[in-house]
Amino acid sequence: MKETKKASDHKLTPQREAVFQVIREREDHPTASDIFEAARRRLPGISYATVYNSLRYLKEAGLVHEISFGDSASRYDRETERHDHAICDCCGKLVDFDLPEAAQLMQAAARKSRFKAQSVHLTLRGICPDCRDAS
Ligand code: ZN
Ligand code: MN
Repeated sequence: MKETKKASDHKLTPQREAVFQVIREREDHPTASDIFEAARRRLPGISYATVYNSLRYLKEAGLVHEISFGDSASRYDRETERHDHAICDCCGKLVDFDLPEAAQLMQAAARKSRFKAQSVHLTLRGICPDCRDAS
């Protein structure tokens, strides 16, 4: 069982603490600019560079998870345990789901690629229910 990391294990500066709290309070996987907007309301005067550096620190400390996309801005996740995501190509909404079969998929992928499996993360791209209803 992996030990869960808590903010109390780390001495966070007020800036890092503000950025961490913003991510913890949100369920919507914000981008760095979303986090910057919200962090400014908590800590007026915080710069984008500080937010960006704080995100890097929190990620390296294992307190937040970064979901990176080749072609668009990274999204940040308060949930650091393994889970899967679905992203809407229309509005950018990113939601969580957990596919228990992912473990078997990973084993099958490891066999085919002859890689030693370490992790698997599925991202379903498509159109979310709200956008589907709107069209
Ligand atoms: Zn959508
Ligand atoms: Mn997530």
